[in-house]
Amino acid sequence: TYILAIESSCDDTSASVICNEQILSNIVANQEIHSKYGGVVPELASRAHQQNIVPVVHAALKEANITKENLNAIAFTQGPGLMGSLLVGASFAKSMALALNVPLLAINHMQAHILAHFIDDASDKKPTFPFLCLTISGGHTQIVKVNNYFDMEILGETIDDAVGEAYDKTAKILGLPYPGGPLIDKHAQTGNPVFTFTKPKVKEHHFSFSGLKTAILYFIQKQVKENPNFIQENLNDICASVQNTIAEILMDKLKKAVKETGIKQVAIAGGVSANSEIRKRLTNAQTHFGWSCYIPKFEYTTDNAAMIAITAYQKYKLGLYNNQSVTANPRLKVNS
Ligand code: ATP
Ligand code: FE
Repeated sequence: TYILAIESSCDDTSASVICNEQILSNIVANQEIHSKYGGVVPELASRAHQQNIVPVVHAALKEANITKENLNAIAFTQGPGLMGSLLVGASFAKSMALALNVPLLAINHMQAHILAHFIDDASDKKPTFPFLCLTISGGHTQIVKVNNYFDMEILGETIDDAVGEAYDKTAKILGLPYPGGPLIDKHAQTGNPVFTFTKPKVKEHHFSFSGLKTAILYFIQKQVKENPNFIQENLNDICASVQNTIAEILMDKLKKAVKETGIKQVAIAGGVSANSEIRKRLTNAQTHFGWSCYIPKFEYTTDNAAMIAITAYQKYKLGLYNNQSVTANPRLKVNS
């Protein structure tokens, strides 16, 4: 079975061809344009998707070494995401499915971040149901109980900012370009976590990151008043401290969820799961706490169409096709 999948939920245009569980191509066109605005500009994102989508799809078919006549289904990201961005992928996929007369599959982006673990080469072992997934991305921070491919429960989630936002906003405070998450991670490598920030107290399995961002802002403002070069002189240590605090917050909540559910299979997903500190702590949790941990390959962490393709393959096997009346849904939840 050959499926073409298209991902256009935010600022990356991506297309992938999958053959059963095996990814044949996964092309991602990043939109450089947003970096000079310090964040994603929705209008510019949808315009860039319109420019990128045809060449990206061509490249995906070419790399997979097939033609569009070989395709058995077309999949696209239905949501969540930016309406204007989602519409580009949705309309393209719908017309292509209609023209080729093949099934259409509307895919949930948050389920796809999690189901990326089922890609053939995602990791050396696959999770079995039920497992817990800590989904950490630009727009979400959730602990999800994954009962089956399309049966997921949110145990807890952020009540304000997502962890990716906390990374990006902190980076902005430090004068680093957007998206700053990967840069904080990079600087943290050569720093020490010498500064401490208060961890928020949030009930049950929920998270909060807006208070942390404010605490970091006030701390930096205070230090800069005393020493205008504080950031430049301490950048690596500041980054290591922020990274350490965030990793502790995430691990504390994961430990609690494992304890309460008794499920020791733990996966991470989403853009922030590329973070070296959280990957390290999860690896260590296997020996320290006896968990089985699933850490996805880097290319399947941030937005990519391969994760849409594997999710589409599971839906295709179940015959869960969509008809032409399906529409983009910017607010789609992981449990819908
Ligand atoms: P969502 O999936 O919630 O709709 P999104 O698709 O915009 O949001 P992703 O592409 O999954 O988000 O992740 C992007 C986020 O990941 C950005 O906030 C980015 O800074 C962050 N990120 C990427 N790599 C790292 C890293 N190594 N360390 C920390 N954060 C990172
Ligand atoms: Fe995403």
